[in-house]
Amino acid sequence: MRVLKFGGTSVGSADNIRQTASIIKSYQEKYDTTIVVVSAMSGITNALIEAGKKAAQQDETYKEIHTTIETKHLDTIRSLMEVSEQSSLIAQLKVQLNEIDELLHGIFLIKELSKRVLDMLQSYGERMSSLIIATYLTQEGCPAKAEDARKFIRTDQTFGAAKVNQSYTEDAIQTYFAGVDYTPIVTGFCASDHTGETTTLGRGGSDYTAAIIGGALEAEEIEIWTDVDGIMTTDPRIVKDAFSLDQISYEEAMELSHFGAKVIYPPTILPALEKKIPISIRNTFNPAYPGTMICEESGNEELPIKGISSIKEVHLLTLSGSGLIGIPGVSSRLFSALGNANINVILITQASSEHSITLAVLPEFAEDAEEAITNEFSAEIERGKVDIVHVEESLSVIAVVGENMKHTPGISGKFFSALGKNGINVAAIAQGSSELNISVVIKNSDLKKALNALHEKFFEQDLNTIHLYMIGAGLIGSTLLNQIRQQTEFLQNDQKLKIRLAGLANSKLMKLDEKGLDISLSKEELLKDAEPVDVAQFVDRVKAMNMRNSIIVDCTPTMAVVDHYEDILSNSISITTPNKLANSGSLADYKRYQKAANRRGVKFCYETNVGAGLPVISPLNDLKYSGDQILKIEGILSGTLSYIFNSFDGSVPFAEVVRTAQEKGFTEPDPRDDLNGMDVARKILILAREAGYALEPSDVDVENILPQSCLDAQTVDDFYAELESNADFFENRREQAANEGKVLRFIATLENGQASVNLEAVDQSHPFYHLSGSDNMIAFTTKRYLNEPLIIKGPGAGAEVTAAGVFAEVISIGNYLVNG
Ligand code: ADP
Ligand code: ASP
Ligand code: MG
Repeated sequence: MRVLKFGGTSVGSADNIRQTASIIKSYQEKYDTTIVVVSAMSGITNALIEAGKKAAQQDETYKEIHTTIETKHLDTIRSLMEVSEQSSLIAQLKVQLNEIDELLHGIFLIKELSKRVLDMLQSYGERMSSLIIATYLTQEGCPAKAEDARKFIRTDQTFGAAKVNQSYTEDAIQTYFAGVDYTPIVTGFCASDHTGETTTLGRGGSDYTAAIIGGALEAEEIEIWTDVDGIMTTDPRIVKDAFSLDQISYEEAMELSHFGAKVIYPPTILPALEKKIPISIRNTFNPAYPGTMICEESGNEELPIKGISSIKEVHLLTLSGSGLIGIPGVSSRLFSALGNANINVILITQASSEHSITLAVLPEFAEDAEEAITNEFSAEIERGKVDIVHVEESLSVIAVVGENMKHTPGISGKFFSALGKNGINVAAIAQGSSELNISVVIKNSDLKKALNALHEKFFEQDLNTIHLYMIGAGLIGSTLLNQIRQQTEFLQNDQKLKIRLAGLANSKLMKLDEKGLDISLSKEELLKDAEPVDVAQFVDRVKAMNMRNSIIVDCTPTMAVVDHYEDILSNSISITTPNKLANSGSLADYKRYQKAANRRGVKFCYETNVGAGLPVISPLNDLKYSGDQILKIEGILSGTLSYIFNSFDGSVPFAEVVRTAQEKGFTEPDPRDDLNGMDVARKILILAREAGYALEPSDVDVENILPQSCLDAQTVDDFYAELESNADFFENRREQAANEGKVLRFIATLENGQASVNLEAVDQSHPFYHLSGSDNMIAFTTKRYLNEPLIIKGPGAGAEVTAAGVFAEVISIGNYLVNG
């Protein structure tokens, strides 16, 4: 004997009823007895409640809702039934629809919707659906009869969530169904009290009806037919990669459903568990799929947890005060008060100081809970020993559930690190004593991000998604896009990282999409139909999207994004950037960004600020953190100036060297922007700060190497003319050095906390003497590298190497975020 339950969607339309009927038929062929429990057609219970509320509020639009309910049912009948069979069923339905109308009219007149009347009203949903399905099945040659569960399920009078009188109900069911020779189509959800008054078992209660009947008749199996492939690792509406589990234990199912997995109504498990009857969760629209089996064994030993469930809206109530410390009986008073008020508590935590007790309840219970607690502790509140109950709203509960948590250390570490890395604040924590679940309360605006991050962490070890937002699509930005494009597959296979470009902006346009832009498109196509750029809005949208593992890449050379860095980092979004402006402004700003990143546990990375793709800042930090002492840093930190002075060997005048550098694209449009040494000054300032020196930009001494007339020249052409007429000035300097066996190098130095930038003459023994081309070179003299400095040398400019440096940081931030 089997009990099958079909949910709202499964009976929600004529087509779906046909599908449901075909499943029922196939069972009739296989089993002696099949008892079917049905829900109301989808949306009908909600519509009935809404109509009742409107009527009570004197809102006549309740009539429109009634019409919608009527149309849905009558249309379904017309589609399902042969014309000759339609009128008698329609007549029966009309009787019920009239009763609903009268009930609503009564509510309208007395301006009140009691819980008792609401239960009566709701019961019509199942009473109508069962009638339609039974009649249709009979028409299809499969004898069936609508059965009203109010005849055999007896409850107390807790309208809205009535408690079942088990022994009475079991007997009644056994008697009622003894020897049935047709397929009963039973109304789910409805029951009655000892006076015959209609009650309901709580929203989603049709599952429970099936379990009560299955338990009473000791069914072989209870099958819950719904619209998904079983119990999934998490709510598939929020996490698209959720997948269905083939087996879980009764306890796991109980925990998951208690914490919000809507797929099964929590009380359903108990009758099955008592009689050890397996429950399967099946998909009406994919009947070949076996779905999830709920039984004694948990199965799936390899999964550390079984599922993550959530309740979107809860209220948190906190009782605190010195009057709670060390006084026995406080908790029992609290819980009896809540119990007497029929309040369902989702989660409880108590601070070990006993100074406060916090509990989470559904919003509909919050007011009553607050009142019950306030009444119970009124004397203490009056004496100032206990504070008034503090209530917080807009919160969600998340629980991770699984039997294997008992044997696997580190689950909670993983759980909290995934939340922390994503800047999700935890308002309360509870761990079930059975070690079957850990649950937390968070802001509900973080729910989607938290579920996705946790699901990825626990169930998608094979791939982690990073959300990348790029601002600036000039040379470096476009090159970075190319590199990402080329590496996508390798990163997925090798690093288990999937980069989702969720936003892109250039100097004119911007586009954001949380599902990800199609990175295979060209930059132009990517920004097709994009909106005009507004960096503040871009940042706001990134914050509002609140996606897990988010990184902003600032590839602009301006302050546009820098102005938002602190805000970005404070919202737990990491940054990587080749833009030097943030770190070379005031010391206070530099520290603010560092602090914001540290406080939120996210990354602010800028290796490419100095030496482009060359590793400079990270080795410097490695030296520092490993206890070495930085005595001196010397660097050729500008590719342009490196090229100019490496090429200035006396064969051509200085102006010629500069012109060639410009022709090769090495210089800024006005070469004075390189020759003034400001760019190099910014870089040595950043290195000084990284080495631990609190320098301001004005502390860097920059030698001016240009004669005044060159500085004063109005145009670039005039500048070149001045440079030519000052040829001797440069040539003399070079010759003087050459006479001493030296060459000129434009060197940034940090020594004894002093930073300077000078044109220096160095001899053969100096590491910079042999430098050629446009390479950068940095020499660290430290306590460990005393006689021979640690040298880093290589191309220190260019889009390819800079973009690669930024890319490397994206990957390292990604790994940090997902692996911790
Ligand atoms: P029915 O009307 O068949 O009883 P419900 O709407 O009550 O169906 O429950 C099924 C729905 O529960 C699914 O469509 C799914 O959106 C939602 N759901 C939430 N959490 C889970 C989960 N962990 N596994 C499966 N479904 C879930
Ligand atoms: N129809 C009821 C509800 O929507 C019961 C159920 O579908 O399980 O809550
Ligand atoms: Mg349901």
